[in-house]
Amino acid sequence: MNPNPFEELCLNKPILRAVAESGYLQPTSIQLAAIPEVLAGRDLMATAQTGTGKTAAFALPILELLQRSAPAKREAIRVLILTPTRELAIQIEANFKTYGRYLPFRTTVVLGGVSEQGQIKALRLHPEILVATPGRLLDLIRQKRVQLRAVEILVLDEADRMLDMGFINDVRSIVSETPKTRQTLLFSATLSREVGILAADLLSDPRRVETTPAASISANINQKV
Ligand code: AMP
Repeated sequence: MNPNPFEELCLNKPILRAVAESGYLQPTSIQLAAIPEVLAGRDLMATAQTGTGKTAAFALPILELLQRSAPAKREAIRVLILTPTRELAIQIEANFKTYGRYLPFRTTVVLGGVSEQGQIKALRLHPEILVATPGRLLDLIRQKRVQLRAVEILVLDEADRMLDMGFINDVRSIVSETPKTRQTLLFSATLSREVGILAADLLSDPRRVETTPAASISANINQKV
């Protein structure tokens, strides 16, 4: 019998079970490249488009790392994922809930365009994982509803889009609330000069991983005319 290729990535049983239930048979190329680097605790600079499986490329090893170590501080946010749009934030939160369904971690999302009250209530339940769009998160930080001093892992998802949408100052303010000792993972579809500058400032000795569109899941779809 062939070994489960996800098992070879050193993910624990509750995660492997959730991945199997999602119907994933093989890790995608970004997952194969990124997961070992994240598990080794390294900073990451990844070039990957949506559709390549990039969310699982950071979510799976983050869940693994969370359950390998006890939190430094009780009831604190341990993981922060910044993403440019509401749709992406909702999707990332759903993915963490799916992959982490057999683990005891809570995931919450904060995003603009809806009332803050529900989000403030959810934050009081002390999630370990917070997914956020930059504007609303900064509001909540200023209102002292969110504390990021115990963040162990920071993900900047779709960094190029966050810059294009004018979130650079918000992103930098938010990052300055997190400890310098954090692990930082930056995902971007393109590598512009601005993304390079942000990466140089926020990442420490990052590993670079890349996927070409040819290696994405969509490349596996057969098209017939
Ligand atoms: P993403 O690039 O993170 O937006 O993921 C694109 C889609 O691929 C999502 O629907 C995921 O559920 C799916 N996906 C992620 N990893 C795998 C995998 N290893 N095998 C099959 N589908 C996957």
